[in-house]
Amino acid sequence: MSPPPVPAPFDPGNLVSTFEQHAGQHGFRIEHFGEVPGYPLIALTKRTPGPRPRIYLSAGIHGDEPAPPLALLQLLERSFFDQRAVWFLCPLLNPTGFLRGTRENTDGLDLNRDYRRPQSAEISAHLRWLATQPTFDLGLCLHEDWEATGTYLYELNPQQRPSLAEPIIAAIAKNHRIDPATVIDDRPAQGGIIRPNVDPAARELWPEAIYLSAHHTALNYTIETPSGHPLAERIAAQCLAVETAISRLMTS
Ligand SMILES: [Zn+2]
Repeated sequence: MSPPPVPAPFDPGNLVSTFEQHAGQHGFRIEHFGEVPGYPLIALTKRTPGPRPRIYLSAGIHGDEPAPPLALLQLLERSFFDQRAVWFLCPLLNPTGFLRGTRENTDGLDLNRDYRRPQSAEISAHLRWLATQPTFDLGLCLHEDWEATGTYLYELNPQQRPSLAEPIIAAIAKNHRIDPATVIDDRPAQGGIIRPNVDPAARELWPEAIYLSAHHTALNYTIETPSGHPLAERIAAQCLAVETAISRLMTS
């Protein structure tokens, strides 16, 4: 069953402009790594000098999930992306999806299944851009789930690095509901944490997180907030997830 379209609470073109404006004010470099009809695909990077963790964040790959890009914008406005790290942000990967309020892009493609043999202009361009970037110490892919009853996350941690999953969930649980389901998307879940057994080679369609884990990122979290909850709460939960993951990474 697929969800009904959800009108985005923003115009995707305006949101791209707002990101660019704030990114410039906060010392980010703005790259147009591709284009789909009417919209640039943007990456915002900030290369703080010195040894720093490299942190990648993406949002807006599904056009019916508005809280993630709005959370990144809020963090950018709050000067969260400071000198602690080297930052790589792809804040709106599917602008035409937001125009229509659909998970898929305007051609009906689920961009988050397109990372192995890309068919879409968006992910072809994103993969070309990623190939020119260094590896990341942490990747955060921000999503929403219309079937969820609370926030949950996926962890991909093949090198068994110190897990950030429990701290992220604990921080969110103080103010928000965590999805109590023991099976989410056909995978066992416990306390809002899913640790899938992933063999990328065995999967036909790759989400972004699988691609990142296979080629780019030692530690990756996919954060999922429940689409049925009020938007402001979902944005707050997304911000908490990002803030907690990064502060824990710095001390682990
Ligand atoms: Zn999603």
